[in-house]
Amino acid sequence: MVSFSSQVDFSLPHIKIRDLNKYYQVQDNQVHALKNINLDIPHGKIFGIIGKSGAGKSSLIRTLNGLEKPSEGSILIQQHNLAELKHAELIQLRQRIGMIFQHFNLLSAKTVSENVALPLKIAHVKKTDIEQRVDEVLQLVGLSDKAQHYPSQLSGGQKQRVGIARALVHHPEILLCDEATSALDPESTSVVLSLLKEINQKLGITIVLITHEMQVIREICDQVVVIDHGEIVESGQVWSVFSNPQQAITQELLNLEQLDLPFDLLSQPNDADSAVILKLRYRSELQESPDLKVIFQQFEDKVNLYQSHIDTIQQHLIGSFIVAVPQQLFNLDELKQKLQAYAFDIEVLGYAKPTH
Ligand code: ADP
Repeated sequence: MVSFSSQVDFSLPHIKIRDLNKYYQVQDNQVHALKNINLDIPHGKIFGIIGKSGAGKSSLIRTLNGLEKPSEGSILIQQHNLAELKHAELIQLRQRIGMIFQHFNLLSAKTVSENVALPLKIAHVKKTDIEQRVDEVLQLVGLSDKAQHYPSQLSGGQKQRVGIARALVHHPEILLCDEATSALDPESTSVVLSLLKEINQKLGITIVLITHEMQVIREICDQVVVIDHGEIVESGQVWSVFSNPQQAITQELLNLEQLDLPFDLLSQPNDADSAVILKLRYRSELQESPDLKVIFQQFEDKVNLYQSHIDTIQQHLIGSFIVAVPQQLFNLDELKQKLQAYAFDIEVLGYAKPTH
């Protein structure tokens, strides 16, 4: 029998997906839900998969614990190919992968402690061991005092914490979260996300979560992939993807504000004395914001600030501002050179009538 917990090489991906395709047959139509997915999910990280509804997120997460079979391609967990596992090994593997769901999937006629105990009962674990493990996980999620309550007596956030306790009861090494906070209010979302982060850090569990909410990704994930129409369109460290989103879909998910300049401000580029409207995006690992003096000096202090935004993600400072500067003083290369320490991205958005 394959052992999933011994001899773990942490330098290898915990989950490796290669050339994964998933097709569904719906009457006469074939839906191509996942298209050539290749992904390495590292050990002990929180890995986010984000996309709009219908992008293929659930199909992807369901293939990770064997609920769906890939139509093509392979999934390796700790170097073991799921497709090659025998039935008993697959059952053993499923115990190493916990899962939590958007709607918690608790049994309403059972108490909190009975709900949490259920996976252990099914696996014929000894009664005394069951009691000990249930106590341990309920304590971990801060619900020891609710052990004898029924789900209907709990808030949404508490129900999800029961869901997390149940998912941890087999001491898994991977936790899959399927839109785990989408049914929760902002306060409960925050409690559940903090708990997931704590579990990741305390127990070293690899967490894979799918969501359509960027807020979830930015709060707890280390890495993110953006999935659109079944394809991975963007991936990387969260701060890196957030600070410089390449794809329109990522920008849409990030809900980047569009600049609506008043119509009477805009002018034509061939208007020699018009101002250039620039969007300057920066990111800094050093927690330093750019020296605005550099910009103001280059343009002889004739700068209009239209919009600015600053954020800290994973200890990186990320910001943008939109300014109008005199066209005759604008030299893109020179400006880039001066600002290069801050990894600047400079985009010309349009032209404005002069105000100086
Ligand atoms: P998401 O989780 O991002 O909303 P899904 O993985 O649920 O996306 O769906 C991806 C595509 O696959 C959609 O077009 C959806 O209609 C289709 N799909 C998902 N599950 C099934 C299924 N069991 N049978 C047929 N089509 C499905």
